[in-house]
Amino acid sequence: MKQYDVIIAGGGVIGAACAYFLSRDTNLKIALVDLKKPGNASRASAGGLWAIGESVGLGCGVIFFKTLSKLQSEGDTEAAETLRPHQLPECFFELALKSNELYPALHEEMLTRHDVDFKFERTGLKFIMYNRDDEIYADSIVSGIPNLSSQIRWLDQQQLRAEEPYITPDAIGAIDFICDHQVNPYRLVDAYTEGARQNGVELFLNTEVLEVLREGNKVIGVRTQEQSLHCDTLINAAGAWADDIYYQATGKHMPVYPVKGQIVLSERMPKVLNGCISTSDCYIAQKDNGEILIGSSTEEKGFDTTNSLDKITELSQGAMKCLPILKESSIKRCWAGLRPGTPDELPILGPVDGVEGYINACGHFRTGILMSAITGTLITELMTGKPTSVDLAPFCVERFE
Ligand SMILES: Cc1cc2nc3c(=O)[nH]c(=O)nc-3n(C[C@H](O)[C@H](O)[C@H](O)COP(=O)(O)OP(=O)(O)OC[C@H]3O[C@@H](n4cnc5c(N)ncnc54)[C@H](O)[C@@H]3O)c2cc1C
Repeated sequence: MKQYDVIIAGGGVIGAACAYFLSRDTNLKIALVDLKKPGNASRASAGGLWAIGESVGLGCGVIFFKTLSKLQSEGDTEAAETLRPHQLPECFFELALKSNELYPALHEEMLTRHDVDFKFERTGLKFIMYNRDDEIYADSIVSGIPNLSSQIRWLDQQQLRAEEPYITPDAIGAIDFICDHQVNPYRLVDAYTEGARQNGVELFLNTEVLEVLREGNKVIGVRTQEQSLHCDTLINAAGAWADDIYYQATGKHMPVYPVKGQIVLSERMPKVLNGCISTSDCYIAQKDNGEILIGSSTEEKGFDTTNSLDKITELSQGAMKCLPILKESSIKRCWAGLRPGTPDELPILGPVDGVEGYINACGHFRTGILMSAITGTLITELMTGKPTSVDLAPFCVERFE
């Protein structure tokens, strides 16, 4: 029977980051078990490190605008009038910004120690304004985060045109979050996984955790198709499927559920964007190889991973309105992925009261790529008994009880 100090269930960006940081900073014997289920979020991601953008609700198809127009179209003017941009709590900003700061050094470390490049690019994230409503929205975002004013630039129409000449002349300006950047998400997962492998982590790929093994209130391992693997601690990084593992480990359910996101990718284009873009319709990012990525919808449709014409059309139209040159581009492919959603949009991190040998690292919803570095760091601190660099209380599963 194979025995490990730590088994990680799920090898998306979160499980892989935990494996990497644990193997870099401890001498623990670690196994990473992953079955790539259709909908794996990390490979569906846009790769935005949009720490401020996501914290104020801009990263994801601009949820605030969608909610507002839905309320207006339903005639619910009272609710629409009181609706504020979707700003997450202070503890989320802290986590997001701390994680964001880790990427430049992590990028260097992955290149020099492990010979893998996850394509960290300093881009900024510009929220494009088309009209007075957008300006009011941008104003309320900026006034809500006075402590981050040094990270925000206001661009008038002329400045925007000078920096982003391909953006429609209808745009009247932008706010730019200068610390929000991007990576290539596939390469980031591969970098963590390869780094972990080089550091001695045993990888069980194409392998499913079929059962969590317990003795009383203690988790003692997992059963896969081939064998049982024993461990002192099981880390649940199973993304949108995390509740299955949690239920088996604890006998209780937790609210982690799939939130589908669809993306459209263009064929390679010459450089038409200098920074990442967010508008009231979609976000647009030109990746390191020239492809333009347009995202993303937010839909609760269970584990469905199909692409639908309505959402792909909506995203494409939003992108062409902002970047008219896209009318000349062709679609390379479309896909959908399943974000691990939680009701308050905060991840679920840390141990569980009354259950030994078990830790949650799940529920990262729209920001798992961004949050992977701090999650790997926090889980390593927990495992080595160090004080955590962020207070974990707001992120524990007990908040839902
Ligand atoms: C369209 C889209 C765009 C996004 N854009 C961004 C972005 O720009 N920036 C950002 O920060 N975040 C973004 N996200 C969110 C981000 O992708 C997720 O938060 C993150 O990938 C979650 O990582 P994870 O490792 O928890 O889950 P996943 O990547 O889903 O990985 C979980 C893994 O566990 C495996 N698994 C599940 N159950 C088992 C089992 N029983 N046994 C073995 N393996 C199992 C799954 O198959 C999967 O491989 C986006 C998500 C989507 C869908």
